[in-house]
Amino acid sequence: MEPILQVSHLSVSLPGKNGPAPILKDISFSLKQGEILGLVGESGSGKSMTAFAVNQLLPGGGKSITGGSVLFAGEELTGKTEKQMQTFRGKDIAMIFQEPMTCLNPVFTVKRQMTDVIMIHEKRSRKEAEIQAADMLKKVHIRDPERTLSCYPYELSGGMRQRVMIAIALSCSPRLLIADEPTTALDVTVQAQIIFLLQEACQESGTGIIFISHDLGVVSQLCSRIAVMYAGTMAETGPASEVLKAPGHPYTKALLAAVPRFTSGGVRDRLYAIPGMVPDPSEIQRGCLFAPRCPHAMDICRTEHPPIQNLGNQHQVSCFLEKGVSRGDGIS
Ligand code: SF4
Repeated sequence: MEPILQVSHLSVSLPGKNGPAPILKDISFSLKQGEILGLVGESGSGKSMTAFAVNQLLPGGGKSITGGSVLFAGEELTGKTEKQMQTFRGKDIAMIFQEPMTCLNPVFTVKRQMTDVIMIHEKRSRKEAEIQAADMLKKVHIRDPERTLSCYPYELSGGMRQRVMIAIALSCSPRLLIADEPTTALDVTVQAQIIFLLQEACQESGTGIIFISHDLGVVSQLCSRIAVMYAGTMAETGPASEVLKAPGHPYTKALLAAVPRFTSGGVRDRLYAIPGMVPDPSEIQRGCLFAPRCPHAMDICRTEHPPIQNLGNQHQVSCFLEKGVSRGDGIS
């Protein structure tokens, strides 16, 4: 099956204190129809910036993209004008965010906001759009769609607002849905409901989903593939089962070690914290950007950028260890 999204060698620079700062460097990944890809990493790893670059919503517009390509359904998105991108956004490519209040307009009812989207993108009459809006709310398991349609966003709970956002996002049957930390602000039971809704959307309509999160626990429940980002670079990509069970990159291993765990007696294991910080992209750096935090760093890591290694089964790692470079430093 052809990928619905193919991002190849994408690089992005934004103005920084010392001139243009490389925010994304040589990012490549693909997404098939009906697949859920988890994009993970700490804050500052470039996950959201990747989503904005795919949707051509970067500050500074297309000029920020300094290289690479974003192919959506075989069509190149880099270089498209704002007007051309508006034909994709909301219809073929939809986004949902961590805090729905930042996207929902507080002065309009849910009905007004949903019907406007459907009328614009689906060319429906207002009456038809109202029926479709109520159907979409039922699809996201809202029990009383008519009452919810008449509400203003502030009258709804956080979980209900996120369901409304998902309903709006799915109302035009997008081929690609980018979900940027959609469960982070929700309590655990509502998180589970939202995960279920996304799985349903993926299975029923074949929507390809990029699920951005720093929570590997949530990602492991939802995603069939995982892409691990670090400081604007791609550290590791592969099938979720392989990346979670046999991670190849020291950063992925560190992220997995930092997931809270409980022993059989219900006592929480001591939490592991990754030492150091994600580097500032405006600081010029050589070599592997994870080297200052990596327990396996070798001399070559500090001078050369690690090449991508294929581990088979579309599992790729950007690390010298996988190339079999001798450490020579006694670290095992
Ligand atoms: Fe660590 Fe070197 Fe691999 Fe970077 S390339 S993750 S510093 S071993």
